[in-house]
Amino acid sequence: MDPREAMIGEIEQDARETARCTGREALGTEVLAALRRVRRAGFVPEVEERSAWLNRPLSIGHGQTISQPFVVALMTDLLELAPEHRVLEVGTGSGYQAAVLAELAEKVFSVEIVPELAERARLALAREGYGRVHLRTGDGALGWPEEAPFDAIIVTAAAPSIPPDLVAQLRPGGRMAIPVGEPWGEQSLVLLRKEADGAVTRRTVLGVSFVPLTGERAFPRDGGTA
Ligand code: SAH
Repeated sequence: MDPREAMIGEIEQDARETARCTGREALGTEVLAALRRVRRAGFVPEVEERSAWLNRPLSIGHGQTISQPFVVALMTDLLELAPEHRVLEVGTGSGYQAAVLAELAEKVFSVEIVPELAERARLALAREGYGRVHLRTGDGALGWPEEAPFDAIIVTAAAPSIPPDLVAQLRPGGRMAIPVGEPWGEQSLVLLRKEADGAVTRRTVLGVSFVPLTGERAFPRDGGTA
């Protein structure tokens, strides 16, 4: 079987198997189409290229990993993106998730704290045809205030608590997907929604395992409101 279709098949199976927790039996067809289109091999180091269509996390250097494609698909799906949306990603890493977002939303902004990774992601995104993704090097827990508000925010490193600046930069009606929990410990993928009146609700979606969010802002841990 074509490795690309095999990966999509596994993602669909993971979605069915986790439906009781996630509340989603099937992922959106546009989200799956985006995962078919983005060439993951273009974002991983050469040694990992052969594994790029596997439904597995991969190492991207600097002790960082690119999530399993199912998790990329699920988090993207939870954001319920529309073509006119502005999206913020915290943790550019390889640029792969940013490319998936760029397939679905009009404007994608992504912040990475490790300058070398940010530079590599910039090159990969340009090479793969996603040069329109806006990148910034810095502490993404502060968001990107100049470009706020965002219709959706995705955090791809685990935070000890939800950074208040990110909640503040979410548009009413917007959604944020963020892994919350101890570094290297128990973590849950949380879906946060800001209602039209500004009230915030959250739901735990799934147990996950992400690299930790670093930077001043992620700590101290009583910084989380919402
Ligand atoms: N979304 C990425 C995977 C990210 S791995 C991809 O598709 O490849 C998590 C990334 O978050 C790492 O690159 C790490 O350096 C970055 N990171 C950790 N803390 C951060 C912070 N405070 N601000 C921005 N990026 C951060």
